[in-house]
This record gives sequence, C-alpha cells and structure tokens, in this order.
Amino acid sequence: MRIYRKEIKDNSLGIYVHIPFCQKKCPYCDFNSFAQTNISHDAYIDAALSEMAGHIQERPTILNKKLETIYIGGGTPSLIEPCSMKRLITSIRQTFSASNLQEITIEVNPGTVHRDSLSAFHDAGINRLSIGIQSFNDKTLKTLGRIHSAQDALWCYEWARKAGFNNIGIDLIFGIPGQSVEEWEQDLKTAVFLKPEHIAAYNLTIEDGTLFSKMQKGGKLVLPSEEEQVLMYELAIDKLEEAGYNHYEISNFALDGFESQHNMRYWLCRDYIGLGAGAHSYISSPGRDSQGQAPDWSIRWWNENNPNVYMEQVKNRGRAIAGEELLTRKEAIEEGIFLGLRRISGIDIDWFERRFDCSLKDLYRDTISKLTREGMLDPDDDNIRLTRKGLLLSNEVLAELI
Ligand code: SF4
Repeated sequence: MRIYRKEIKDNSLGIYVHIPFCQKKCPYCDFNSFAQTNISHDAYIDAALSEMAGHIQERPTILNKKLETIYIGGGTPSLIEPCSMKRLITSIRQTFSASNLQEITIEVNPGTVHRDSLSAFHDAGINRLSIGIQSFNDKTLKTLGRIHSAQDALWCYEWARKAGFNNIGIDLIFGIPGQSVEEWEQDLKTAVFLKPEHIAAYNLTIEDGTLFSKMQKGGKLVLPSEEEQVLMYELAIDKLEEAGYNHYEISNFALDGFESQHNMRYWLCRDYIGLGAGAHSYISSPGRDSQGQAPDWSIRWWNENNPNVYMEQVKNRGRAIAGEELLTRKEAIEEGIFLGLRRISGIDIDWFERRFDCSLKDLYRDTISKLTREGMLDPDDDNIRLTRKGLLLSNEVLAELI
C-alpha cells in the first residue's frame, strides 16, 4: 500500500487573520464583517493570539512548518491601530519558524488611513498592501456604498508609496449598476497610470442576503448586461496585459514577481491557518490530534462567524471551531482541479502526479478530450489550462470536470 502523506507533506504555512470590523456595511458585501460592534480591538487581537496557541496545543506538528506568508484581511484591518497590528505580527513571528517569511499583507480601506498610519503599518513589518479602491469614479463608489472617494484612493496610494511600500495591490470591481464600459476603461487607465505591482479585477456578484440582492429582487437594481460584463472582463485582460501585467489567476494580474504569495497558497492547496471570526484553515498533513485522530488526507475547519461568540469560545475552550471536514483523497483531487484551473498557467501535470500519485490526464481522459474539442481547455505536455473561452465559462467547465 502506498503512503500518500509522505508525498503531499507541505512543510510551509500561511497565516490568515480575519478582522471582521467595518465602519459601515457596503450593500453588496457578504463577507463576515460587522459595523458598529462595541468589541475592543485589542481584546479581539488577544483572542486571535489565544486561538493560535489553542491550535498549537491541539496539533503541535504545526510548529514544524515554516511560516511563509501572513495575510490580514477583513472586514477592514486598517481600522486596527498600528501598534496592535505590530503586537499581532510580532507574536506570530515569535511563535513560528519565520526565517522563510516573505510576505506580510494587510488589506486597507482608503477611507480609514492617513499618512501616519500607513507609515506605522510599514514600521510594524507589513511589506504588502492590498488597497480596496474598487473604482476611481465617485458616482460608482457611491453606488457601491463605499466610505471613500476617488481622491481618498489617490491619496492613500501616494501615502503608501511615501511610507515605503514597494509591493502594492489594488482591488477594482466591474459590472456595477450604472457603470458603463467606458467608465470601467477609465478605471483601468487610472490603475495602469499609477502602476501598482498587483491589480485584482473582480466582477460584481450579487450575493444572497445582501442589500443589493433585495434591491435586485425588487427590481431596483439594474446591472450592466451580460454582454457588457464580458466586454469589461476582456477589456481588463487586454488592457492590463498590454501594460505589462501577467494575468496569473482568473481575477488577478501582477507585474513580474509580484503575484500574491499568500493567495497562491490557496490555489496550490498549500497549508494555512485562519485566525479570527469566520476564518477557515486547511492542513494537508496535520498529524494526530489530541484525541489520536488523523484524517484520511487533509483537514479543513472554520470558525464561528459572530465575533462575540468567537471570542467567548476562544476564552472558554482555546478555539472557536464551528465545523470541520476531513477530506478524502478523491475530494482533495477535485479541490486541486477546481483551484488549480483558476490559475492561468493551469494545473501543472507533474505537480498533480507528485501530489496525488495519479495521472490527471488518465483520470479525466474523456472529459479533458471533450472540453478540449469544445475549445474550453488547452492541454499540453506540462499543463492543463483554460482557454480564453474556458475562462469566460469557467463555472461550467469546472462543473463538468468534477
Ligand atoms: S469595507 Fe469591505 S468588508 Fe467592509 S462592508 Fe465594505 S466590502 Fe464588506
């Protein structure tokens, strides 16, 4: 019998910290974020650090992994005082073996920072910013219910450069109610003019439970047509590639060497621990837990969403797990395909074989042939990737494959 675990062992680790606080809830947002909580930010950071200690106590082998990335996302992490952020980062660094730590990212809302706070975040050891700009058009920002203006976004970017950040990502959204193709093109032009190292361009999706969803059901929200949204996506690919950005994931573009290392972990099924309310974790070689249980292939768990419940449970039990899933090898393979095809270079056939000890082409021979004939997949000797047509219909392709 083969021992698969030896082949898949990931000795590296990423840590995600979820900050669930926002100044105001945006009408399109279904992230785990809350406005107007009266939770002390320092107490929340304490809870995240206690949770980290709880995971280590449960699975001490986690400490053998080399920490490569820290990503502080939200919510609005830039609402946290830089000195608290420094405390968080220092504790994580001191707990894990951090000699391989390459990237520490924080998500920033332009409406919550100023020159000094950005400098202080830089001094705290953060070396990458992800700025939620969304649009450079005030009318569009108003539709999205954002708390910042286009001018705030430009200032934020300028202050970030002055603070010393040389790895900046900006997020943009297209397919927004009332947004024209020309306005989107103007957003892309402004982004290219600023030349951040990384640009994410997301198509707005209307998620259940959001205000936008209610408005749509009541006929009060009119999105650009499907054709216009496809045009906007293709415009992003063409304009950003023309400007020297590598399109490396469905929604992500980067200058050479500036791909998000942390997000890459997700697409390559590498290990990460999520701390904070609603955070998810994934460990592929977790060893036995305190009950002596070891999963078949990998384990995923997720935390309580409500920050009050989260903090209470961490205080009482050391962790705040709302659910967990032990993945079988088959499930891990399907996930590897699902995530791997999000990368524009596709799934590396060698990587797949080393990781899962089987041939991707043999396993899905008929489906791959069919999707290739239909112009959705482009397999060669090294990779299997989506074509441009496949990218536009990625959900359908993935559904057929898995
Ligand atoms: S700032 Fe971001 S996380 Fe907060 S409500 Fe708006 S979209 Fe959601």
